Amino acid sequence: MSDEKKVLLRISNLKQYFPLKKRGLYVKANDGITLDIYEGEVFGLVGESGCGKSTLGRTILQLYKQTDGRTMYYGKTLDDLAPKYMLDTVKNLEKKIAEIGEKEKKRDELQAHYDKLSEKEQFEKHAELDAAKKAASDALLDVANIVGGFMALKDLSRVKAAYEANYSLARKRRDLRVERARAQVEHDDAAFENRNASAQEEKVKSIDKQIADLDREIDASVKAIDALRQPHMNDPEFQKFEAMRDEGVDLARLTYNEIRLLRQDLQIIFQDPYSSLNPRMTVGQIIGEGLIAHNIFRKNNDRMKEYILKVMDDCGLQGYFLHRFPYQFSGGQRQRISIARALAVKPKFVVCDEAVSALDVSVQSQIINLLQDLREQQDLTYLFITHDLSVVKYISDRIGVMYLGNMVELAASDEIFRAPAHPYTRALLDSIPTTEEKKEIKVLEGDIPSPVNPPSGCKFHTRCKYCTEICEHVTPAWEEIAPDHFVACHHRLGAES
Ligand code: SF4
Repeated sequence: MSDEKKVLLRISNLKQYFPLKKRGLYVKANDGITLDIYEGEVFGLVGESGCGKSTLGRTILQLYKQTDGRTMYYGKTLDDLAPKYMLDTVKNLEKKIAEIGEKEKKRDELQAHYDKLSEKEQFEKHAELDAAKKAASDALLDVANIVGGFMALKDLSRVKAAYEANYSLARKRRDLRVERARAQVEHDDAAFENRNASAQEEKVKSIDKQIADLDREIDASVKAIDALRQPHMNDPEFQKFEAMRDEGVDLARLTYNEIRLLRQDLQIIFQDPYSSLNPRMTVGQIIGEGLIAHNIFRKNNDRMKEYILKVMDDCGLQGYFLHRFPYQFSGGQRQRISIARALAVKPKFVVCDEAVSALDVSVQSQIINLLQDLREQQDLTYLFITHDLSVVKYISDRIGVMYLGNMVELAASDEIFRAPAHPYTRALLDSIPTTEEKKEIKVLEGDIPSPVNPPSGCKFHTRCKYCTEICEHVTPAWEEIAPDHFVACHHRLGAES
């Protein structure tokens, strides 16, 4: 990973609750996860089955509709995608700004009341105050993410007009880019088949020209927005808001078609290479399906076949497998097919969900090496999910350890192995089988508690040998104990007592 770290995904307070039939009860699979994933890194996510790590991977990709929190994606900008929620926010600016005012007022009133309460009463009221704080900051973020900090004040109609103009240009450019991709495919097909491609070439050039004109118009519209910003820079009211517009795309707010456009960027490799491949499709069809869906090719022709063979070769699959069906392969080969299917569309971010867990140990290392090579060649970012710490040791730049819906420790991979600070991480490390003679394997005892009704205080306290009274009642804070090393524990390991 380069020193210059650029955030690709910013996950804030992400919650994923699944309702049970009995009203009012939820399985809290993810209970407030906050995490940045950097471009080009491999982030290892570890924990026992049922800790919520697979749910997190799928929720980030919006395969589940998230219950709460934000998932911001920076692989595309708001102007690239021009999502509908951007226009909705701008159209309703007055209403949204009034909402911010109301929610901040409610928060401040509650805070004033809270400050006068006894400690016991404060304990009862703090959830209400937290909810009010969150509602106020969410209302602000909604607007600030789209239009930046200056919007709240004067000249609202000019601000709206400037943004609406910017939005409509961005939308046109997005549609033109899709059209250009199709035209390029037609051109490449014609050239590959030695047909005269001059008409297609003209079309691509003409779309390029229109896009370049739009780029200029969009630049001008951004300058118009900046000009509106300037007079308010010294306004004290302005200071209340974020000065910068957040260029990220809020994945949870995209429409079905918008998220489909992003699917190409965001891919997943599943654990079970048996059930994740359609048994009625050949390898060529399996890999080709996404290529046609994402307009990378328009039809199954020789040029597409050549491309599929190249992808198969990159993934260690022989060309003569092209017309074979999944049942004709071993587990390791099937997982190579899954990898080829995911990577053929040239994604930016791939969730590898227990991608090697179903494979023999000897095959596991081959697949990990393959993923590592492909990552370097194609500048990929992985979220590598596994229950087995030893698997992520070599592939991950950083590791996050999850327990019962929460992150309990997060640090660079070697730091997690060298100086684990959370008793749960220590227990996972102790349970790794080893060939060292004197090292005893310690299996973590007790079952993981129910995520419907998790233990109070520290959720790990029912299984932790360091548990004291405070652990049973007070949720430990998420603290940075060394640069980029975070942990949530009252009695972390290695700390002075
Ligand atoms: S907070 Fe207490 S119970 Fe939880 S991991 Fe730390 S020592 Fe164990």
